Amino acid sequence: MVIGSHLDSQPAGGRFDGALGTLSAFEVLESLEDAGIETERPVVVVSWTNEEGCRFAPGCMGSMAFSAGEIPSAWRGKVATDGVDFAEELAKTIASLPEAEMLRLGFPLHAYIEVHIEQGPSLEANDIPIGVVKGIQGTRWLDVAVTGQTAHAGTTGLSYRRDPLHALTCALSGLYEAVMPADPDARFTVGRISAEPGSVNAIPDQVRCTVDMRHPEPSRLDEIERFVTSRIKEEAKRQGCNAEIARSFDMAPCVFSDALQQTIEQAASARKVKSTRMLSGAFHDALFVNRVAPAAMIFVPCRGGLSHNEAEYVERAHAVIGCDVLAQATLAIACESTNGRP
Ligand SMILES: [Zn+2]
Repeated sequence: MVIGSHLDSQPAGGRFDGALGTLSAFEVLESLEDAGIETERPVVVVSWTNEEGCRFAPGCMGSMAFSAGEIPSAWRGKVATDGVDFAEELAKTIASLPEAEMLRLGFPLHAYIEVHIEQGPSLEANDIPIGVVKGIQGTRWLDVAVTGQTAHAGTTGLSYRRDPLHALTCALSGLYEAVMPADPDARFTVGRISAEPGSVNAIPDQVRCTVDMRHPEPSRLDEIERFVTSRIKEEAKRQGCNAEIARSFDMAPCVFSDALQQTIEQAASARKVKSTRMLSGAFHDALFVNRVAPAAMIFVPCRGGLSHNEAEYVERAHAVIGCDVLAQATLAIACESTNGRP
């Protein structure tokens, strides 16, 4: 089995996103060693490469390559934001660990468990130290372009306007009122918007925006996408404009192994710790590992739900509990009889 997380971080931190899971995994190995426990299955610690995607794109490169069984050829020649070559950097990292045994990407794996900070407020708010992660919600991105007609801001009366910004903002305001209020699991975000030609005294010719939609149910994600697309197109048409919408990213929801979730729950109750099943709002390496092997995650609370921020913080007691539950779950899985299975 494999336990671990990632060590890379966002430009502004924090110190716990990733590092907590990797260090917890090393702590479990040391504890097994100290206690003189020999497991039936090998326990491997992983620190996945480039999870955050800040230095190289895409993120989750290590776990993605593991699930693909090879390093995608498109990554050859990839250059980091600081100008270094991906292949050279990878070779340097491998050379710095001469005593670590080289394992084949995608080797058969019985289970993967990752400890991670929640990166949200719910565990802390409900005073629950362990989140047993059920899965990761699906994500879809849209590129939206609404085209109208640029014209003079002062001389063009209402009935002569084909204003794409007005059409888009009317549609978006309806969508903000409809999508998330109707479904607590839905997420709807417009993170980028721009207008051309971008002149203070001209009606825009074209406006563009992105849409980020998330939901744990694939069928609901389909419904939300259809609703968003039709509302924008209808409003554009009503105002004499034309909307073109293209999907730019699609990540299906992931459902983690129920058996592993039960193992983590049992590990928590054996340590007399409260746990709750919950969804992850963010991507993690476990999402990619889950494509080729049973995977699960243990969430621990972080202060104020704050993450990707220098102020990110995990209480010492919560870090200890997370590591303890990982150790219990690892013992349960690594010490069960294997009957020759991986
Ligand atoms: Zn992370």
